[in-house]
Amino acid sequence: MKVYADNAATTKMSEHAVEVMVDIAKNNYGNPSSLYKIGQIAKESLEKARQEVAEILNAEPREIYFTSGGSEADNQAIISAAYAGKRKGKTHIISTAFEHHAVLHTLNKLEKEGFEITLLDVNSNGVVKPSQVADAIREDTCLVTIMYVNNEIGTIMPIREIGAICREKGVLFHTDAVQAAGHLPIDVVKDNIDMLAISAHKFQGPKGVGILYSNKKIPLVNLIEGGAQERNKRAGTENLPGIVSAVAAFKDSVNSMEENHTKIIEMRDILIEGLSKIPHSALNGDREKRNAGTVNFCFEGIEGESLLLLLDEAGISASSGSACTSGSLDPSHVLLAIGRPHEVAHGSLRLSINEHNTKEQMHYVVKEVERVVGYLRDISPVWYDLKNGKREFIL
Ligand SMILES: *Cc1c(COP(=O)(O)O)cnc(C)c1O
Repeated sequence: MKVYADNAATTKMSEHAVEVMVDIAKNNYGNPSSLYKIGQIAKESLEKARQEVAEILNAEPREIYFTSGGSEADNQAIISAAYAGKRKGKTHIISTAFEHHAVLHTLNKLEKEGFEITLLDVNSNGVVKPSQVADAIREDTCLVTIMYVNNEIGTIMPIREIGAICREKGVLFHTDAVQAAGHLPIDVVKDNIDMLAISAHKFQGPKGVGILYSNKKIPLVNLIEGGAQERNKRAGTENLPGIVSAVAAFKDSVNSMEENHTKIIEMRDILIEGLSKIPHSALNGDREKRNAGTVNFCFEGIEGESLLLLLDEAGISASSGSACTSGSLDPSHVLLAIGRPHEVAHGSLRLSINEHNTKEQMHYVVKEVERVVGYLRDISPVWYDLKNGKREFIL
């Protein structure tokens, strides 16, 4: 059986998104900046796409910018908010220890430029409390950037409450909503969001297309200089086939959100229930405050990398955390942030599913993970020591 269970890393494009992309590439190839008809038709499609995104998010079209992906949108939002703060003498930024690296590495860069960064504790359940944000805000805080849904463990942050606190204190609020868009409702007004990043390839759209929402009151800083595209804020001829396809995928996922949610939760619960029966295992992140599709477990006494390779041989594509850190032997910064010790964080498995998976696949995954974990433990010297009382079990 083949099971693709790494939708938090990327999704297969939907048929509809592929059709739209090909259609635009073939039939609507003009440059939106050209003044003749073919160019103006391209421009109309671009602005229609922008309008549609604005409607979904409850924003104005002039607050929507198309980028090369979620990473670029995160970078531009955070850098813009930081520089706007600096001009007013505010150089303190609040975030969390388990953000995506697109956020954390941007903050590292700002720290080198003299900004002060506070990374909030995410607690053992992987959820930040609004009161932690309120307590951390200072006179010189210019920005709070906290993700909507964590990409490794799937926990949901109380962004509306966090946004309300930021509003009240006059601090900008950015959220990396890449794992939430298309899966959970987003309303930038009700949710008190000033800036937000989205990536199309996480909801069955194309790779290389991102969406940045930035409230019109915030002056954006350009990351790319050149032409006057995107209201002068992001140079480069627009990726029209990608953008229109991304917006089609966004609309489709929003329209089928509720229906898919129920279906995915049923499958996810089969995974959680089944994997919890493996001895010395633990679910990572809060059991309730989590998105539908992501399940992350630690299994004591094994290496996540070996687990992934053997699952791959069984036809199962999964991950041990973020695609960005795989290939390195460092344990996940997210699992360390929720307090898992190194030796346990190494034995992690992330399964991220969507509506195209089936219950039969879930039962198969549970059976295979059980088998492979058992096999790896049998040949593991660490497990031998644990079993014989030479080391203490952590889980
Ligand atoms: C995938 C992801 C990103 C990066 O998006 P790209 O489009 O791949 O650049 C950023 N944040 C989170 C939470 C993600 O899951």
